[in-house]
Amino acid sequence: MPELPEVETTVAGLRAVLEGETMVRAEARRADLRWPIPVDLRQRLTGAKVESLGRRAKYGLIHTDRQDTLIFHLGMSGRWRVDPESIEKHDHFILETASGRRVALNDPRRFGSLDIIDSDRLDSYRFFETMGPEPLSEAFDAQVLHGVLQGRKTPIKAMLLNQNIVAGLGNIYVCEALHMAGISPVAIAGSISRTRLERLVVAIKQVLIAAIAAGGSTLRDFAAPDGALGYFAKDWRVYGREGELCVCGAPVLRRVDSGRSIFYCAKCQR
Ligand SMILES: [Zn+2]
Repeated sequence: MPELPEVETTVAGLRAVLEGETMVRAEARRADLRWPIPVDLRQRLTGAKVESLGRRAKYGLIHTDRQDTLIFHLGMSGRWRVDPESIEKHDHFILETASGRRVALNDPRRFGSLDIIDSDRLDSYRFFETMGPEPLSEAFDAQVLHGVLQGRKTPIKAMLLNQNIVAGLGNIYVCEALHMAGISPVAIAGSISRTRLERLVVAIKQVLIAAIAAGGSTLRDFAAPDGALGYFAKDWRVYGREGELCVCGAPVLRRVDSGRSIFYCAKCQR
């Protein structure tokens, strides 16, 4: 499942194709993904120029000169194919530029989404309204995190996955950041000291930046046969490594909580 760094990488790949370009075709090939695709998408995008692209949490943003923003989510299996030679069954939405480039949103499981909204109303988009700060922004620091965790009896891992606390973090990067910070995933959020939260904030930013950098290098050679923007493999510290040895020599453990696997080291993380 794509997380923030994968979405950031995807946006960078799309930016190289779409930024500054006029869209001559915007075609939805079915009526819905996870929910209905707006019926006015074609009319609002056709003939519009892409001014810039961005990201909010795990959503990609395509801003046009008509002050519209196309918002996409990749769901579980979504990816954009760049200049595909042919259109496949699961290519559900296609954009073509005046210079002849083409991108297709491919999503076999259809957990992704497409929406279009007035750009100046972006903050009131239903999923952005109560969303916490971007983890890589200055607005996310130990003081802010300490403030929102005050009195919370929930395990820290659940708090970090809560999009209202911090935006865009998923299971993989939360496991990795908690390990890097030496904090147990089940530590009670409200009882973690300010000093340890400072370490946690640094760790979160570091794992994301490293993953985005890895994505960037993937992007450079993403000229795969179908020109797809893939997800990149990563050497995780604990994620997916149950039974293997942590850098400290103790085994990586796994427990399941609310259907999600938590990977951690009981020796390094308290
Ligand atoms: Zn360890």
